[in-house]
Amino acid sequence: MHLFLNSSRSVLGFKSLKKITYSFTMGALLWSTAAQAQYQSLLDSPNLKNSLEQVDPEAIKSNMAFLSDDLFEGRKIGERGFDLAAKYMASRFQEIGLTPGVNKTSYFQEILFRKGEVMEQNSSLEITNKGQNIPLTYGTDYFLMPNFGKTQSQANAQVVFVGYGVTAPELKYDDYDGVNVKGKIVMYLTGAPASFPNDERAYYASEMAKHQAAVAKGAVGVLTIVAANANNTLWDAYLHRYRSGSYKWMGPDGTPGNYFPALQTYGYIFQPSAEKLFEGSKITMAQALSNLKAGKTASKTLTAKAQINVSSKHSSIASQNIVGIVPGSDPELKNEYVVYASHLDHLGITTPVNGDSINNGAHDNASGSAILLEMAKTYKRLDQAPKRSIIFLSCTGEELGLLGSDYFASNPVVPGNSIVANLALDMPFFLYPLKDIIPHGIQHSSLKKQVEATTQFFGLQITPDPAPEEVVFTRSDHYSFIKKGVPALFIKGGIITDDPKKDGAKIIADWRKNIYHKIDDEMDQPFDFTGAAMHAKVNFLIGYLVAQDQERPTWNKGDFFGNKFNKQK
Ligand SMILES: [Zn+2]
Repeated sequence: MHLFLNSSRSVLGFKSLKKITYSFTMGALLWSTAAQAQYQSLLDSPNLKNSLEQVDPEAIKSNMAFLSDDLFEGRKIGERGFDLAAKYMASRFQEIGLTPGVNKTSYFQEILFRKGEVMEQNSSLEITNKGQNIPLTYGTDYFLMPNFGKTQSQANAQVVFVGYGVTAPELKYDDYDGVNVKGKIVMYLTGAPASFPNDERAYYASEMAKHQAAVAKGAVGVLTIVAANANNTLWDAYLHRYRSGSYKWMGPDGTPGNYFPALQTYGYIFQPSAEKLFEGSKITMAQALSNLKAGKTASKTLTAKAQINVSSKHSSIASQNIVGIVPGSDPELKNEYVVYASHLDHLGITTPVNGDSINNGAHDNASGSAILLEMAKTYKRLDQAPKRSIIFLSCTGEELGLLGSDYFASNPVVPGNSIVANLALDMPFFLYPLKDIIPHGIQHSSLKKQVEATTQFFGLQITPDPAPEEVVFTRSDHYSFIKKGVPALFIKGGIITDDPKKDGAKIIADWRKNIYHKIDDEMDQPFDFTGAAMHAKVNFLIGYLVAQDQERPTWNKGDFFGNKFNKQK
């Protein structure tokens, strides 16, 4: 799973108490029994049951062990270990009998990524406030991000503080109200207002939404304020994350994806340094933040001017998604697709801890990759393929920001509007037998129907998202599909264990704290492979029912993501 530093949480230190509104999904409950009946004849099929029974925990274990072996060196994008793992996935796709997903001739969707790095010695941020120079040091007070379109870029303009930098018309909220930022550099906080519902907050806290808003208002540069916290750990985390470079995919036309040419420069500034930009502006940063917290306008054109020069170095990294297809059996519906996505890449080799430097990524995400293979086998064992076609996508670049899946969703191997649903598998959690699932995204679309039919079939419970404020729904590959308007689900194992002495929520929380994105994500963890097999069965069956349904899935009426992204409304 991708680590998001641009947390949607407010930096002002108070937590949203707002809950997601489920009222618009209540209608779904009324027809869930009907849905069950609708699928009964499918679920009664001996061939289907037989194929499900053959899902093999040992096969998942062996593929997971293989892909997380030290020999793959942590499967880092652009490196030999990833390329070998990709070859392995393609070779298994072939053996299983999947149709090559790219022009029916290749399993590899080749992607060129651009790595951007800032040449620090040739880059600078200089602030003058009322004629006084404010000395700032690169790495201590600020750092800059590369420009992906050109190697030299600059912005020389007045700084305007714009709160969170959020323009949210449906919530009648606009940090740009009352200020003119045309040709200016905007400075804003990370996150989004705590008063926003979780989904809206996650969306508006994203870099994409903020850059879009800044560009729409005519800004030429962005400075993001990183809050000061104890021991500056937040600043250090940002610096660590971005100083060594960042990445974008390059489109077939040779331009970077998700790139805003109008934005000349953007960078991060540490809160104590940002405070100095307020001096002489009749308002302190503390006052501005307190206004913001109180829901009052805090935006302000400051007296400070910034001169930003960025020298960027570009380099290319070639990698690939691996794509295989089970063609559908219905003459019409076979032209529509259900996509399973599971990222293959991980973090590679990093600083040694107790003599080990390889991030094996057994759970993140050799596990999802192994489950993907097992699901493909389950489809191929059926007497007849489902009506719709099924795409198996083993993707690259997830750890760099969902890049491989975003490339696929933006440059699909089939017409974009023919993709009807996505299910993503990424460190799904099977540290004990699976009794319940947490289906992230269930409240957004009609996929709830297939989830309920599936959990009833396997006797599993549905556990509501225990931490909706984390908005896990926006944090793995399925979000790349959501951004294209495709209803999606991201299913995690639940918190009910087989032993009253085992606290599932604690086991998962401890895993996130101690193992996630660390050297210790290896095969010697207490994995329960019957749980892994259940993940394969659950995801298989949900996708299968979607593929068999006469109607394609729809976003719930009034759903935020549906309204935001669905182009087929
Ligand atoms: Zn990860």
